[in-house]
Amino acid sequence: MPVEHFDAIVVGAGPSGNAAAYTMGKAGMNVLQIDRGEYPGSKNVQGAILYSDALERMIPDFRETAPLERHVVEQRFWMLDEKSHTGTHHRSDSFNEERPNRYTILRAQFDKWFAKQVRAAGVTLITETTVIELVRNAEGRVIGVLTDREGGPVHADVVVLGEGVNGLVAQRSGLRPELRPQHVALAVKETHFLPEETIRERFNLSDENEGVVIEVLGSVSSGMVGTGFLYTNRESISIGVGCLVSDFAEKQIPPYALLDRFKNHPSVRPLLKGAEMKEYVAHLIPEGGYDAIPKLTGDGWLIVGDAGQFVNAVHREGSNLAMTTGRIAGECLARLKAEGRPATEANLKVYRDALEQSFVLKDLRKYRKIPKLLKQNRQLFTTWPAVINRSMQAFLRVDGRDKRAKEAEILRGLKTARGNWLNVAADMVKVARAWR
Ligand code: FAD
Repeated sequence: MPVEHFDAIVVGAGPSGNAAAYTMGKAGMNVLQIDRGEYPGSKNVQGAILYSDALERMIPDFRETAPLERHVVEQRFWMLDEKSHTGTHHRSDSFNEERPNRYTILRAQFDKWFAKQVRAAGVTLITETTVIELVRNAEGRVIGVLTDREGGPVHADVVVLGEGVNGLVAQRSGLRPELRPQHVALAVKETHFLPEETIRERFNLSDENEGVVIEVLGSVSSGMVGTGFLYTNRESISIGVGCLVSDFAEKQIPPYALLDRFKNHPSVRPLLKGAEMKEYVAHLIPEGGYDAIPKLTGDGWLIVGDAGQFVNAVHREGSNLAMTTGRIAGECLARLKAEGRPATEANLKVYRDALEQSFVLKDLRKYRKIPKLLKQNRQLFTTWPAVINRSMQAFLRVDGRDKRAKEAEILRGLKTARGNWLNVAADMVKVARAWR
């Protein structure tokens, strides 16, 4: 560990830490980045869809060198019951554009590539090193970090915490409270390998560059607040399920049992047929939304990415919020440095202000009522998907009964499932209100 004073120390080499370090490195700042992994991305987990926009704002030509799997040309949403799914698909040739909007990626490869760009921007990266806690001066201002390496603390003008969802450094240093089980989902994910041509045929794709993603709601979460997903990579399929930790604790359902059930669902099994499972991972996802965002800045420190609960669970966006908060933090710190102003809590207000102006806090504020809505209305994960699937069965089955009788049966089924029409209307109003 060099005994040196840095302009900034970045904890973590995930999307948020990399974006912050890259931006500051490009601005000519002397930056030290520390990651506990053997290499950046070695333990990082994502579904994973990469949203181009956030990366493109920093590295416009990223497509030339980044390890990308397939660009997404089709998105499916499925409502699952035990035997069926009812869904919508959106597929468009517009997604076959010169600069595609979304890609599937494998994080271990992607983070390694991103870290290479960060190092090329002049940042010093140290891996296999864990930051234990922040170091403060007599006035309480953060002035550096203590790591698990010998040699004492490392000093910097500011510490950027991009340490991911657990946020243990911030927590140990008294900057944010302990994670609450109702603010975080536990996701389990497997990677199943198949030949490229099999994926192409199975998902009706034109070539090895096109991909499909499937987002799933309903019986996949066994009554818990959660969703499932299935994403196509070049030669593999990523499949996973995530539910609130508080729900797992209450229901005592092992996450791997949930994933096994999902894989064996009649709509999913054929998509995985003959595939070889090679990877199994588990990771937390911040899902507390706007109201769970901790204090983001203080004298000599600021928080970016998952550590700040920056995940839009409704749209399943996280890495782009991580990169955007990292980039904005880097820009703010570079500006303060250029103006000769220290990273005090008062001066770092520019970071919060810039986030307020960005899609990050606008989106999270828009959906701030969704986490509470979902926790208090489990019927959205159980009754509604079941009713929708039963209704589609009744509607599509040709069995000698007339259509008016079928419509009456569908409406009766809906009313019975929710007890009365008032409850049906109340569900719709609640969802519409939370969505606004
Ligand atoms: P991380 O990616 O978690 O990186 C944190 C880094 O900090 C790690 O490299 C870690 O090694 C390092 N670190 C932690 N503590 C220390 C320490 N004390 N000292 C040194 N280093 C430390 N987002 C999307 O945009 N699209 C998706 O499809 C998607 N799917 C997901 C599916 C799953 C199953 C999960 C779990 C998440 C998904 N997300 C998705 C969310 C996305 O992965 C995160 O939002 C994103 O990774 C956050 O980036 P980050 O840099 O803040 O944190």
